[in-house]
Amino acid sequence: MYFARKAFIAYLARVSIILRIVCTFTYTCVAFRQIKPIIESLVKEVKITRIETERRKLLKGIYQDYLKARPPGEWQYLPEPDTRRILEIEGFKEFLEAPFDERGDIFPGYAVAFFPDFIDNWVKGHQEEIVGILPDLEDAEETFEAKVQRLELATSVVTCRDCNDSSHLGLVLVGWKNICRHLRSTSHGYPDNCQTYEVNHHAVAAAASLVSCVGLDPLTTTMDDMNRRDDRFMCGTCLPEDYRGRRFMRVYTWLECVCYFLSLLLFF
Ligand SMILES: [Zn+2]
Ligand SMILES: [Zn+2]
Repeated sequence: MYFARKAFIAYLARVSIILRIVCTFTYTCVAFRQIKPIIESLVKEVKITRIETERRKLLKGIYQDYLKARPPGEWQYLPEPDTRRILEIEGFKEFLEAPFDERGDIFPGYAVAFFPDFIDNWVKGHQEEIVGILPDLEDAEETFEAKVQRLELATSVVTCRDCNDSSHLGLVLVGWKNICRHLRSTSHGYPDNCQTYEVNHHAVAAAASLVSCVGLDPLTTTMDDMNRRDDRFMCGTCLPEDYRGRRFMRVYTWLECVCYFLSLLLFF
């Protein structure tokens, strides 16, 4: 009701503007005849906008229901429930662009059939962007799958440049799942997702040093290998700190250690 009233007030405001355009300040029959074509096109435009919105909402609703039916563990690695990208699916073009005399309908079973490919393309598109920033290997041609696999190495540290200054959330991202979670999140207060990623050579060096430090090979050790070990590291440069009458040294997991090292570089 509130929105209908708001829309009506907006409509009246536009009528008064139209009257001014035709230099008429009183709403008489003559003035009405003068502005009638303008009002008619305005009403048509409002109607088209409303139907367009309803069709998009319908498709997004079907997509959200489809996501709900997938295992909850997958949700954080799938395109967002309100993504506009589903509107770009070729199979929906006919429905979205049909004559705007009524909302029309689309059978959920028909719409859902497009989502597996849509999700695969979304994942693959993002993976291609991310593996594209990995340095090339010297000796061999690497397949796309091998590159995606390389993302799982402990030394494949990817850094988000978009939120570098505002938060440390994207400072150290290792493994596709962590990267994927970051690129679909907007939690640090910006309306758009982070889109610019780079391989930070300082982070790679720090991760390689930690992997070597525990006696493993930086060329083959994966993030899971390091996580499973669950080692703790201390900084050799920091001095002990005082806290409630005791002296202590900070300890870090390997990822916290890489993050700490990078934050020092950003700070100095
Ligand atoms: Zn970010
Ligand atoms: Zn330190």
